[in-house]
Amino acid sequence: MPHTLADTLAENESVYVNCGHPMCCKSTKLDIQALIERLGPDHGSMHWDLVRLFGCADCKAAGRDRRPVFFTCIPDYEGLNRARNREWKPTFESTKPEA
Ligand SMILES: [Zn+2]
Repeated sequence: MPHTLADTLAENESVYVNCGHPMCCKSTKLDIQALIERLGPDHGSMHWDLVRLFGCADCKAAGRDRRPVFFTCIPDYEGLNRARNREWKPTFESTKPEA
């Protein structure tokens, strides 16, 4: 489980930030590279490291009370699968029907 922004980037995880207000529920994909440029690669990428950094502009504009955001992490399933199967080849045996 990655713990820093650099880990998250290396693992190619997709991190979405979601507004926690039930009237709003906006979500967007985080730009990890941009976060690293602002916070440094060693900044934590766990919930509590990031939650205070984000607020919802839509809720603020609409005068709704500020709810904490929450995060959704999606592993790089395709990349993990590719790595897992790199050395694997299926066998193929052609059996000719006996005449
Ligand atoms: Zn919102």
